[in-house]
Amino acid sequence: MQFAAIPGLEDVKANLLMAVRNGKVAHAQLFFGKDGSANLALAMAYATYLNCEDRQAEDSCGKCAACSKNSRLVHPDLHFIFPVATSKTVDKKPTSADYMKEWRTFAIENPFGSIHEWGETMGVENKQPAISADEARNIVTKISLKAFEGEFKILILWLPEMMNQTSGNAMLKILEEPPAKTVFLLVANNHEKLLTTILSRTQKVMIRGFDENEIVNYLTAQYQCVDDRASKIAFIADGNMNEAIRLVNEDEEDHHEMFREWMRKCFTFKVKDLTELGERFQKMGREGQKTLLHYGLSTMRECLVFQVAKQLSKLRPSEQDFVDKFSKATNSKVLENIGEQLNNSYFHIERNANPKILFLDMSLQIAMILKSKK
Ligand SMILES: [Zn+2]
Repeated sequence: MQFAAIPGLEDVKANLLMAVRNGKVAHAQLFFGKDGSANLALAMAYATYLNCEDRQAEDSCGKCAACSKNSRLVHPDLHFIFPVATSKTVDKKPTSADYMKEWRTFAIENPFGSIHEWGETMGVENKQPAISADEARNIVTKISLKAFEGEFKILILWLPEMMNQTSGNAMLKILEEPPAKTVFLLVANNHEKLLTTILSRTQKVMIRGFDENEIVNYLTAQYQCVDDRASKIAFIADGNMNEAIRLVNEDEEDHHEMFREWMRKCFTFKVKDLTELGERFQKMGREGQKTLLHYGLSTMRECLVFQVAKQLSKLRPSEQDFVDKFSKATNSKVLENIGEQLNNSYFHIERNANPKILFLDMSLQIAMILKSKK
């Protein structure tokens, strides 16, 4: 992966490049960015840059032997650790080494992907992947060797927040006594879950979410998405490129109509209507359900902004009308609570909950929130 393959984020890239130019490459760095950000992609591009044999001012050369190996993630000085679980092929004590082939496919084809897609790639959809203490022992073996070909030995640890106490402590020990010319890149989505001792030993690299323009440009260039649709998706995706790509691959359906009807039926609170709507929800399939929930979340956000600032983003007239009316009929507490319901349901849909039951339950909760106004 080269920096050029990552859309936008010129500010973040410039900071990373400057550190290398000034010879100030910190040995432990925490690439922190939300789900769907470029944190993993940037860590891979940075690793490629560090070991490139012919570094250019703004990117790796993309041509040397090191770049070629890094683009396939097979450079002998590039190591990875990521959460894993048991599967049909790996039945006990799984480690990253057991899934390297799957990892290369995932990280190259879907560098903005989430732990959910990674679970699918591994074939362990319903299990919670983790980073075990065995991995920590592997780290020691991997980094105690001298760099084979490159200037740096690099270890990219994806989602360190999924380490347990034992593996976290083992990692800490390594960070305290780093071998020379070794660079640890911890790629986290949720730094609040990290051990504070690990946080204090890493240099933080904050990676913002993609802005709307960056998403629009990427979707139009890579997916031949027309401008209007790209803008709409960028708005719903809210900085999450993984979500944007998922949406662009999905059939265009009018989620606004469905969401409006749903909220109207929650207001009137007729269980029969909500049950019928639940059947339609079920027929949408998991990806469609996720999109509707995501659309709902972005609409709640829009209403919150509207209540405070009376501002509307680039919405269609029918959407503006909805946001206007819904904001007036609710308050910020209601919007936040509905958002929480949608968010929780999204989580459960990803874990294969029964959509019909989930939808009805969620609708009743939302109806109660709307009725009690809190
Ligand atoms: Zn190169």
